[in-house]
Amino acid sequence: MTARRLTPIPVSTDHPRPERPRERAVADAAPTKAEAEAAVRTLIRWAGDDPDREGLSGTPDRVARAYREFFAGYASDPVEILARTFEEIEGYDEMVVLRAIRFDSHCEHHMVPITGRAHVAYLPQRRVVGISKLARVVEAYARRLQIQEKMTAQIANAINDVLDPLGTAVVLEGTHQCMTSRGVHKTGVIMVTSRMLGAFRDDPSTRREFLSMIGNPVSREGTVGP
Ligand SMILES: [Zn+2]
Repeated sequence: MTARRLTPIPVSTDHPRPERPRERAVADAAPTKAEAEAAVRTLIRWAGDDPDREGLSGTPDRVARAYREFFAGYASDPVEILARTFEEIEGYDEMVVLRAIRFDSHCEHHMVPITGRAHVAYLPQRRVVGISKLARVVEAYARRLQIQEKMTAQIANAINDVLDPLGTAVVLEGTHQCMTSRGVHKTGVIMVTSRMLGAFRDDPSTRREFLSMIGNPVSREGTVGP
């Protein structure tokens, strides 16, 4: 695909938009960095340590800055990311699959990492999008406080709503640190979630083709399906 013969088209503004983060609305009330650092000092004391000892003196600042990165997704708009699409697909009607997109997220119940891989596919109808955009949509939703089920649905819905394809499929394989390093302490557990829309939901052979292209998490977990 060469950029030369492709015509970007903007998505019409009256297109239904995927769920927007409610957090946007409270962004005005964002705390100052000093307040965030004070909160980190409190958590260090809660953990049982002394925020004033030498090794921890720069920690509140580093944690506050790291949070900017961990939760950068609140500042990105998946609709905007997907808005530039290419219309001349020259009859291409096979699925587009991007597999094993590494993601780093945080569970909204314990604020500890969820890491894993996302597999994203859609069946173009009239337009395609640059593949890096699919990875950026995963990133936009991963870098928020999340639960894996919600994140799976958000990614699929955004792609489905904006690209209006014949179908969209998303499978996430995640390792939850809140399970491996606390609570039940189960290591090596991979949670698999999926959302299949359109042809991926209705046509078993399309779904099978996708699942085999991503290495069949179904055969390992037995849980992937609509
Ligand atoms: Zn958790």
